[in-house]
Amino acid sequence: MYQKSDPRGDSPVSIIGAGIAGAWQALLFAQAGHAVTLYERSDADMTLATSHWAGGMLAPWCEAEASEPVIGRLGIRSLDLWREHFPQTPFNGSLVVAHARDRADFERFAKLTTGHVRLDARGLSDLEPSLDGRFREGLFYAGEGHVEPRRVLPELHARVEAAGGTIKFDCDADAADLDGIVIDCRGLSARDEQPELRGVKGEMIIVETNEVELSRPVRLIHPRWPLYVIPRGDDKFMLGATSIEAEDTGVSVRSALELLGAAYAVHPAFAEARIVEFGSGLRPAYPDNLPRITVDKKIVVNGLYRHGFLLAPALAELTLGYVQRGAIDNEVMRCV
Ligand SMILES: Cc1cc2nc3c(=O)[nH]c(=O)nc-3n(C[C@H](O)[C@H](O)[C@H](O)COP(=O)(O)OP(=O)(O)OC[C@H]3O[C@@H](n4cnc5c(N)ncnc54)[C@H](O)[C@@H]3O)c2cc1C
Repeated sequence: MYQKSDPRGDSPVSIIGAGIAGAWQALLFAQAGHAVTLYERSDADMTLATSHWAGGMLAPWCEAEASEPVIGRLGIRSLDLWREHFPQTPFNGSLVVAHARDRADFERFAKLTTGHVRLDARGLSDLEPSLDGRFREGLFYAGEGHVEPRRVLPELHARVEAAGGTIKFDCDADAADLDGIVIDCRGLSARDEQPELRGVKGEMIIVETNEVELSRPVRLIHPRWPLYVIPRGDDKFMLGATSIEAEDTGVSVRSALELLGAAYAVHPAFAEARIVEFGSGLRPAYPDNLPRITVDKKIVVNGLYRHGFLLAPALAELTLGYVQRGAIDNEVMRCV
């Protein structure tokens, strides 16, 4: 880090996009005393945001299996920020399990990640009684947490307002018309100015059953995608998520079969579950799949890819550090 010489003190801040990236930016800037206005094209239900469709896992150790160390560094810092600002966030850890036929991939996952302990069948059923007798062993990542996107986004928005910020929903903003420091958190819509952004499709299904109880996300090792079941409360579970280099919307039959099959493999009672919703979102990604804060006439925070909920708090802290003190994180920030 080095200190830039023109910190911009307590100027007003305009943030475009109230998804997970923009919401955390708005919260930290408003709490730091800036006059914040957050503009969002969607209504308060946020159905236009990729964040609406996410799993909400806060899993820096599991994600190390397929991501760069910077994701772990920022993710672990974000966990502290989630704990500090949302102490009610469940940090019950996460579980990784596999069928006997995927044993080699399970061992590979264990080798590529840290922060876990191995559980035998007894340990698994002590932790998640619903999984009794289902798997011979598992990996338990005790430090991980999860949030429910459709609950935490409105909570974040309410906290922004409580800190003195203003939120304008149903408002399509253009940076050229805005005052003060502009922070662009438009996700994939920022491709008009950053053509290297691409959308990586993630499909999900929500099911409902009162025959399975889980206290934490359970990942099932799968040859193609990290499939998981996340408890949502009210007997609902999210099944996610595919990762497809395509930008269409909807859920294919093949993906639905794989997601529902994964749930059935975690517990056969999911066969009787009621399907509540199919959906998909496009994860905004740069070619290296890493997040980036670009500082030019405005500040662009984007490329959160598979890790928006995991990274948004730490990215907001970095942006605030830049604006207030001129601090630059060379791994994430680009000054144009
Ligand atoms: C199925 C699925 C599962 C996922 N699971 C996880 C997970 O478990 N953990 C995790 O950390 N991440 C997960 N992700 C990734 C995460 O959802 C994304 O990284 C994150 O949502 C990106 O957030 P964002 O704020 O950058 O973009 P968005 O959420 O898309 O927000 C951008 C917002 O900008 C608004 N906007 C655009 N243009 C304008 C404009 N001109 N004026 C006003 N508003 C505008 C849009 O309406 C939108 O609301 C998942 C993604 C998917 C699809």
